[in-house]
Amino acid sequence: MDDFHHRGQRRQLIEQLRTSGRYDEKVLEVMANLPRHAFLDSSFHSWAYKDEAFPIDCEQTISQPSTVAWQSTELELLPRQHVLEIGTGSGYQAAVLSLLGGRVFTLERHKPLWRKAKLTLKKLRLDRIRCYLRDGNNGLPELAPYDRILATAGAAAVPPALREQLKVGGIMIIPVGPEGKEQTLLKIRRTGETTWTEEKLGGCEFVPFVEGLG
Ligand code: SAH
Repeated sequence: MDDFHHRGQRRQLIEQLRTSGRYDEKVLEVMANLPRHAFLDSSFHSWAYKDEAFPIDCEQTISQPSTVAWQSTELELLPRQHVLEIGTGSGYQAAVLSLLGGRVFTLERHKPLWRKAKLTLKKLRLDRIRCYLRDGNNGLPELAPYDRILATAGAAAVPPALREQLKVGGIMIIPVGPEGKEQTLLKIRRTGETTWTEEKLGGCEFVPFVEGLG
C-alpha cells in the first residue's frame, strides 16, 4: 500500500522538516519510513504528505507532521521507555512513538476512532501498541508510572492524574490553554515526589481535551 508516488512525496516532506533544523534526526527517520496516508481515508491519500492536519472520524484531526515531529522531539523518548499517549486519534503519533522504540499505551475517548486505529496499527504490524478506550483525564493508573506522557489534545489545565502517573525524572508534553484561545505547549518534568518544573515551548493549536467518553 506504500507506492513509489507516496514515498517520493514523503521524502520531500521530511526534507522540508529537516531543513528547518528544529527536529530530532531519529524522529525524522521514523517519519520517513512510516506511511502517513495509511492513517487517512482514501479521499485524503493524495494530500497525506502536505504539512497539514486533516479530518479523521468523530470531528477529530490527525496532527500536522511538523507538530508530530515537534512533540516527539521534545519528548526525548528513549528505547524501551513506557510512554502514555492521550488522544490516539488515527494512531499515527502512537506509531511514531513505537518506532522510536517506546512501549506505547494510548488512550482514546471515541469508540470508532479507537477501533479504527487498532485496525490500522495491526495492518502495519504495529500491534504491540496497546490501545484503550478511556478518558485521558484519569490516565491509565493500573500501568503507571510512565517515563513519558504525551497529550495530543489541548487541556484547560494539566489533569492531576497525569502529573501523578509521571515517573520522577520523567517528561510530559501537553498543550494547555482555555478553550477557544491559543494554547501553549508545555514541557513538564517531574523532579521529585511532590515537585514538577514547567517550560513553555511555544504556541500551538490542538483539538480540545474533553471530559468523559465520546
Ligand atoms: N494523536 C492523534 C491526534 C488526534 S487529535 C493522531 O496522531 O492522529 C486528538 C485526539 O484526542 C482525538 O481523537 C480526541 O478524541 C482525543 N481526546 C480528546 N480528549 C480526550 C480524553 N479526555 N481522553 C482520551 N482521548 C481524548
